Amino acid sequence: MRIGCPKEVKDNEFRVGLIPAAVKAYVDAGHEVVVEKGAGVGSNITDEEYKAAGAKILDSAKEVWATSDMIVKVKEPLPQEYDLMRENQIIYTYFHFAADEELTKACLEKKIIAIAYETVQEADGSLPLLKPMSTIAGRMACLMGAYYLGKPHGGMGLLPTGVPGVAPANILVIGGGSVGSNAARVGAGLGARVTILDVNPNALERLAQTMPSNVFPVFSDSHTLEAGLREADIVVGAVLIPGAKAPKLVKREHLKMMKPGSVIVDVAIDQGGCTETSKPTTHSDPVYIVDGVVHYCVANMPGAYARTATYALNNSTILYGLQLVKKGVERAVKENPALLKGLNMYKGIITFKPVAEAFGMMD
Ligand code: NAD
Repeated sequence: MRIGCPKEVKDNEFRVGLIPAAVKAYVDAGHEVVVEKGAGVGSNITDEEYKAAGAKILDSAKEVWATSDMIVKVKEPLPQEYDLMRENQIIYTYFHFAADEELTKACLEKKIIAIAYETVQEADGSLPLLKPMSTIAGRMACLMGAYYLGKPHGGMGLLPTGVPGVAPANILVIGGGSVGSNAARVGAGLGARVTILDVNPNALERLAQTMPSNVFPVFSDSHTLEAGLREADIVVGAVLIPGAKAPKLVKREHLKMMKPGSVIVDVAIDQGGCTETSKPTTHSDPVYIVDGVVHYCVANMPGAYARTATYALNNSTILYGLQLVKKGVERAVKENPALLKGLNMYKGIITFKPVAEAFGMMD
């Protein structure tokens, strides 16, 4: 099979679908890999590194799309890429079809085979190709919060680590899943006192067993939330109710109870945010202030650390990608139920129920 990796075309997207180690893995398995010139620049990967791993560098995206049986990307195809997609071509990337009718129609018309990273799901319910991004966003959350606590950035001027004789920050993490547990660990590493709230007793149990001693897992209800908000210097929003909008747990009136100059990092913003006053922001304009509380609501946090994100993503995508090319899509999805869940579209037919439901295409 010929595997192609074009450069990402989305605004401010610096990640890339393949790293040199993944190229080598495909080549070692007997496949050919082509990479668009400069595709890795945003993640600090040179064409020479790809060549050394066994890839052929092509001058344009057009050549990559035109000659590849499987395209490996990061973001969904954009309108300028729709005409490059070819019938029966496997496209292995994040799609998020349910949120994009134009993309769904274009992919159906082109009769591609869409394997969507975001819906590959293991038997235990985990989403292995989404998790690396949650890990990165979680680890970033307290670092961003720490930065914006600085006076020049709108915060109260508190150094979260504390210093001898001055107490460190209080951090409240709402939601103890992938984002929340990673945020709590980094917060604890900074030396802060971290309270982490969750409604799932199993999650609380796991956190109690694995977190450092300055992290306190607490059952989430309106009482513990309010108490936490009053004390917090940094609040991390990390709740998720799968398939639904994030619950607005932090209300506008709560902001008045909070310390002036405290910071909310609402990581759940990509699902609408768990704070009533959250609205999506960008890396170029990441924060705004409401009632004296700094809000950081960047919807694509991992994009800031593109190199780490590219490598973390590849560590997970390569496992499933190799199955697709070694066995062919049909056998690979038959033998691996996790990959079957990732199959969103097959040659003009939607094969993933929630996407069909989103567009009223259920028979
Ligand atoms: P997860 O499923 O691993 O964890 C979510 C946790 O929230 C679960 O443990 C759940 O029990 C808990 N929860 C649900 N309702 C709650 C409530 N009322 N109070 C307290 N806890 C509650 O999800 P995750 O991977 O950690 O993702 C969290 C959010 O971060 C999602 O919305 C995800 O899309 C988002 N995310 C954003 C970015 C970004 O760049 N902004 C990046 C990655 C993930």
